[in-house]
Amino acid sequence: MKRGLQLLLLVFSLTVFAQKEAVDTTQIIIPNRHNTAEAQTKPYVIMISTDGFRYDYARKYNAENLLKYSNQGVQAKAMIPSYPSITFPNHWTLITGLYPSHHGLIDNFFYDYKRKENYAMSNRKNAEDGSWYGGTSLWGLAESQGMVSASLMWVGSASDAGGKRPTYYYPYHEKFSPSEKVDKVVNWLKLPMDQRPHFISLYFPEVDGSGHHFGPDTKETEDAVHLIDKAIGELVQKVNDLGLKNVNFVFVSDHGMIKVDGGAPLEIPAILFDKNRFDYYNSQTLLRVYVKNQNEVKSVYKELKAKKTDDYEVYLDKKLPKYLHFGTKDDKYNRIGQILLIPKAPKIFLEKGKKTSVGKHGYNPRLVPEMKATFLAWGPEFKNNLVIDEFENINVYPLVTEILGLKIDQPIDGKLKVLKETLKK
Ligand SMILES: [Zn+2]
Repeated sequence: MKRGLQLLLLVFSLTVFAQKEAVDTTQIIIPNRHNTAEAQTKPYVIMISTDGFRYDYARKYNAENLLKYSNQGVQAKAMIPSYPSITFPNHWTLITGLYPSHHGLIDNFFYDYKRKENYAMSNRKNAEDGSWYGGTSLWGLAESQGMVSASLMWVGSASDAGGKRPTYYYPYHEKFSPSEKVDKVVNWLKLPMDQRPHFISLYFPEVDGSGHHFGPDTKETEDAVHLIDKAIGELVQKVNDLGLKNVNFVFVSDHGMIKVDGGAPLEIPAILFDKNRFDYYNSQTLLRVYVKNQNEVKSVYKELKAKKTDDYEVYLDKKLPKYLHFGTKDDKYNRIGQILLIPKAPKIFLEKGKKTSVGKHGYNPRLVPEMKATFLAWGPEFKNNLVIDEFENINVYPLVTEILGLKIDQPIDGKLKVLKETLKK
């Protein structure tokens, strides 16, 4: 008995030790980076993403700090995520100004025909390999124009994606509390002028986690909103105390959240289980089909369409609504697949025996308003007391480059004119 207990303790301590070893919380600093004299005169932008922070959460849950600051600045009625309304595609869209089909991160997991390789966000090797990501990131643009940047766990920030890496960054982990992250941002802003980042991107996963696990309309999600709101209050207060002249805050999210029908999920059409003919990728709110033999696409499409129920749509990817920018024409990296099965919210596709979460996202935000994201902004560069209509999230990029005085170095989908009116000059 005693021996058994000892063994158990040994196994337990080994596990704890292994976990500690596995998570590297050290900041990485790229040496010899400095702001040019000109960059030192530019404003600061702190761009904060709170994953899954639905467009209505701030009001619904009375996020006092966010409402207070953005009341003095700019509030969008909503921000429209790019399709599909999921995390990796939309974070990379916000940071590059490109639709997912144009930057290549079309899902959290996908197959690349050319590379003959799978990408999965959970695979660290993929996530930190910049060759999967197209476009120029905001930090890459800043660094290439002599402006120092920093990132606390924005999607792709620990990779060499999107041009140069941020000068200061962390490999992804979830060990830092929101308050600890705030202190790290404040410490960056205490650095000497030539080393101080002017573009900082910051990521909080808590609200999305709660929305998935408990659902969007729960006390737990309300608490998660308040946790982040409190961190924003600390951030603004501590940044104000530094007395820097021109610090601007852009608070965004990647998508919203809806309670799904997990009790009666849709069955995946049996024909797709034939691995010799198909690969399919099921994110539950979207099922993408790769037909291996191109000559079969049309007949398979017809078959799937004939057998479908009223609870979902079947699309040939070239027939998707244009505004989704998710069809063949837009699929720059050939990663989407030829046939898409799109459930009608709150229905989901689910493999037999598999469990789902209470909350989900990924639906078309123009059909399912719960998918819409948040945009709030304040600081000296922004107009006061301005409420704007909803807009597409590709347009955040040119807004940030305008504030920082950066020159966009390649064609993007976003346009400055969409959000220019939010700026004082
Ligand atoms: Zn999520």
